[in-house]
Amino acid sequence: MISSSVGLGGANQPKVVAYIQKLLNNYIESRAIYVFRFLKIDGKCGPNTISCIKEFQSHIVGLAYPDGRIDSNGRTIKALENYASPQKQRVYEFSLGMQPYLAFTNREGISSPSKSSTANNAKAVVTDDPRKLMTRAAVAEAYGSISANKVWAKKSTYLKMFKIPELIANDENYAWINVYDPKKRKVSKIWCHEAMHPFLETALKNLKKQGLLGDLKEFGGSHAIRSTRGATKWSAHSWALAIDINMTGNGLGETPSMSKEFVKCFTDAGFFWGGNYSRKDGMHFTIAGFDKPSSS
Ligand SMILES: [Zn+2]
Repeated sequence: MISSSVGLGGANQPKVVAYIQKLLNNYIESRAIYVFRFLKIDGKCGPNTISCIKEFQSHIVGLAYPDGRIDSNGRTIKALENYASPQKQRVYEFSLGMQPYLAFTNREGISSPSKSSTANNAKAVVTDDPRKLMTRAAVAEAYGSISANKVWAKKSTYLKMFKIPELIANDENYAWINVYDPKKRKVSKIWCHEAMHPFLETALKNLKKQGLLGDLKEFGGSHAIRSTRGATKWSAHSWALAIDINMTGNGLGETPSMSKEFVKCFTDAGFFWGGNYSRKDGMHFTIAGFDKPSSS
């Protein structure tokens, strides 16, 4: 509980803001996400603090429309204060240059699939066209269920490194930055499901053809075992069947800032675009049908 509100339109008492900034820094550390630098504990509620509040509300509290404001006894402060130690909260998530770590624990509010999960005997089937898999159950059938203990994730058969084609990587306009690992600036490889490789390759070639490689700015990861943000169903990221691109200006619930032409390079390649969801998620592209806007 805090004595007064913090964030967008909040009272923003410096002491309270500083307290929130400390809590948010725990969160940033736990997520190993470098979209946000650590916040300066200065008691000033600036744009960085507010966007981090929104991110927390979206990812952890599960608000579809994060308002960037923490009320003195609302859901956000409860979640923030209850947020366990970074180690415990880490989701299994890796990306370029990062060692995978397996410290996943179920976050509160995420329902685990039933015990009858088929993860242990999941087949490493790759369908010809994953877009035909219209339900999560169908995806699970083909790629293995996500189980609470994440057994399947250790099976390397599911994830293969996708290498950026040379003609793309060598293009002078190509500048895709990996935000997960600031040391490895340019993206040359990404971990994703092998079923996604041909789609990704086509999308990259489309971008090159259209002269839009320069618009490819940030890579936010593909594989992350987690629920759909704001919901309890598994995200396509859990199977590495989705990819996040150009997160800045294309956040969850924001009006996407990427151009139609850019998006078309991906949708022509067979991706669904999160910007078409009722709750817009402009950064998000996925090939599995279960993320289609019409799916319930
Ligand atoms: Zn995504």
